[in-house]
Amino acid sequence: MSNDTLEQIQQRRTFAIISHPDAGKTTITEKLLLVGQVIQTAGAVKGKGNQAKAKSDWMEIEKQRGISVTTSAMQFPYNGCMVNLLDTPGHEDFSEDTYRTLTAVDSALMVIDATKGVEERTIKLMEVTRLRSTPILTFMNKLDRDIRDPLELLDEVEDILKIKCAPITWPIGSGKFFKGVYNIVGDYAVMYKSGQGSKIQEVVRFDGIDNPDLIQAIGEEFHQQLKDELELVQGASNEFDKEEFLEGKLTPVFFGTALGNFGVDHMLDYLTAYAPAPQARKTLDGEVAATAPEFSGFIFKIQANMDPKHRDRVAFMRIVSGKYTRGMKVNQHRIGKEITINDALTFLAGDRTNAEEAYAGDIIGIHNHGTIQIGDAFSTFKEPVKFTGIPNFAPELFKRIRLKDPLKMKQLLKGLIQLSEEGSVQVFRPLINNDLIVGAIGVLQFDVVVNRLKNEYNVEAIYEPVNVATARWVECDDAKKFEEFKRRCEGNLALDGADNLTYIAPNMVNLNLTQEKYPDVRFFSTREH
Ligand code: GDP
Repeated sequence: MSNDTLEQIQQRRTFAIISHPDAGKTTITEKLLLVGQVIQTAGAVKGKGNQAKAKSDWMEIEKQRGISVTTSAMQFPYNGCMVNLLDTPGHEDFSEDTYRTLTAVDSALMVIDATKGVEERTIKLMEVTRLRSTPILTFMNKLDRDIRDPLELLDEVEDILKIKCAPITWPIGSGKFFKGVYNIVGDYAVMYKSGQGSKIQEVVRFDGIDNPDLIQAIGEEFHQQLKDELELVQGASNEFDKEEFLEGKLTPVFFGTALGNFGVDHMLDYLTAYAPAPQARKTLDGEVAATAPEFSGFIFKIQANMDPKHRDRVAFMRIVSGKYTRGMKVNQHRIGKEITINDALTFLAGDRTNAEEAYAGDIIGIHNHGTIQIGDAFSTFKEPVKFTGIPNFAPELFKRIRLKDPLKMKQLLKGLIQLSEEGSVQVFRPLINNDLIVGAIGVLQFDVVVNRLKNEYNVEAIYEPVNVATARWVECDDAKKFEEFKRRCEGNLALDGADNLTYIAPNMVNLNLTQEKYPDVRFFSTREH
């Protein structure tokens, strides 16, 4: 690997934001794009209807700000690094899409509404990041409102999320009296000015806690209070420790207001300085380091109709190792084919452009004509590579979907299969009838599917209840026994969107009995067992 490639890889910082709805993810994303100079001015993202919520919040930014397509990934240079920010979908439900996006990052920013504290979705998302010990940075947002006691907030994060807090900045007041933050590590204060949310602010900074200019700026009372609090917090909390941060055991904490565009840059400074460069990814037989000599990557997301005019489908690949160059030949291991990637998209500074090159840690978009699936590995390794831990979970909720206009069967099937490729729902086609069964992890996904079928495929569909409670992917090494199983259980077998055989059970008792009856058949609750 050339020194230049190595250097490029070391500069990559790939992260996503995790937060509870309304904590400020969209607003902070916008401010990151401002700080990263992807956009020149920011305006508050206005109220979002249900429809918008179901899609990506980034699409909202896009619509309202008129910037070019940003969905899913965004890249910008900052502080000598190349930052990749991945969007986690704004679904009301906890979705698989979010889960898989988190497999494609090397660190995460947790945004907490400091008027509220740790909320339920944040707890779930932290559980997911924990599976890979992802390093976490924390931003306490909405300091321009009356927040909870900051020490209590840190305690709550430590107790509930089981991660140590190392405050890097500390708030000087909040709400009407929000004056700024004190940088504990750097020993200086940065002053807040309201009404500056839409542009990069000029920084007013005072070095040292007993700086007379600082005392004058915030008043003696606030100054004394700040000193007392700093003493308390330094006694009660942890110092930043890079090792513990990289192991996901300690989080640096920043205070600010995304809306007021204050404090976001402090966080980004730390992210670029301390968050890890691209990390290795596990495979079936070991792992692939970012600096491995060959190119490799995996698909973590597929999105249909990014551009309604073109009806395109884009598969998003996290590059795991090496360098991509335009026109490169790579192996698509699942189907054992060599393909040439000519027109991969990159997302530098908000432009969807054709990439000449990209490096480990980057995200590239590949046009998909139905041959790419979530979890697919591509590489220039001769031996097949299979990255692990990018699951399709068995759905827990099922409904039969029916057309209002029976003549549109072909479009319905096409839409469902494309939407299931995206991984947000799954579709099952029973072997014995022409039913179409939609399976999902969360209820909202059903509404999203019907809306998208209508808007993107011009198909009106409705749901009916169906007697299915759970699904398992099935496999068997003994062809004869498998045939017998298939014959006897035909009434419970279906094909998923990618033609994999699944057993659909009306209830758990039925599933358990069937498993007992056919011990040679293996039943899997994720597709990529
Ligand atoms: P998301 O659901 O996490 O993407 O949250 P949004 O970014 O859409 O923010 C939810 C609401 O909180 C919006 O009305 C924002 O304007 C508001 N908001 C976000 N950040 C701040 C902040 O720092 N201060 C205040 N007062 N409001 C904020």
